Amino acid sequence: MDDCIFCKIANGEIPTDFIYSDENVVAFKDLNPQAPVHVLVIPKKHYKSGIFVDDPAVWGQLMGAAVKVARELGLEQDGYRMVINTGEQGGQTVPHLHLHLLAGRNLGWPPG
Ligand code: 5GP
Ligand code: ZN
Repeated sequence: MDDCIFCKIANGEIPTDFIYSDENVVAFKDLNPQAPVHVLVIPKKHYKSGIFVDDPAVWGQLMGAAVKVARELGLEQDGYRMVINTGEQGGQTVPHLHLHLLAGRNLGWPPG
């Protein structure tokens, strides 16, 4: 996707410090953090959202990477939240599948 900001981050066109990267996934800090820890974990491959993912291995790659990041950031003790906003009513604003990893404060429930 030529005009996708997260594709540009993933392929290095927009220089970004990756907290984590492997063959399939990269993770980096959210530009507008909603918690002391706010990391985005994304597949390098473009999917408009999770509803368009057919291969369950993609979920394994994404969630597996997110758990590794959570461990590397030492979040075992206090906990964290993983969120995937999907579509308009789900609050998705960037149309490239991404997982939010949020931590470092008490997170309210239910979400807004
Ligand atoms: P969504 O609302 O789609 O679930 O989440 C999109 C997230 O991407 C938002 O939290 C927003 O702050 C973040 N974001 C949007 N553009 C950029 C960017 O260029 N760089 C980074 N690091 N985060 C971005
Ligand atoms: Zn993309």
